Amino acid sequence: MEIKDVLEKVLNNIEVEEVLSFELSEKETKSYQKFYKKHSKKCKDKMDTIGTSHIETTFTPTSLGNFVSVKCKICGKIKDITDMDNF
Ligand SMILES: [Zn+2]
Repeated sequence: MEIKDVLEKVLNNIEVEEVLSFELSEKETKSYQKFYKKHSKKCKDKMDTIGTSHIETTFTPTSLGNFVSVKCKICGKIKDITDMDNF
């Protein structure tokens, strides 16, 4: 393998890592916390005691930006918290 091939491989891997690591913006974090708190209160009685989070976060990467949605695993409510400022 030539040096340039190795370099290309390394660079490709970096790109993959960037794509796979997601971060919430400040706005999205606030929306997440709001949703989390609301459903901690509302769905508290049905929450399991193991301590796993009742909120599921889904990231959908697109060429424009990441769509982020949160879902309460207890009542099934889904909320889109995508920060459109990032697009
Ligand atoms: Zn809920």
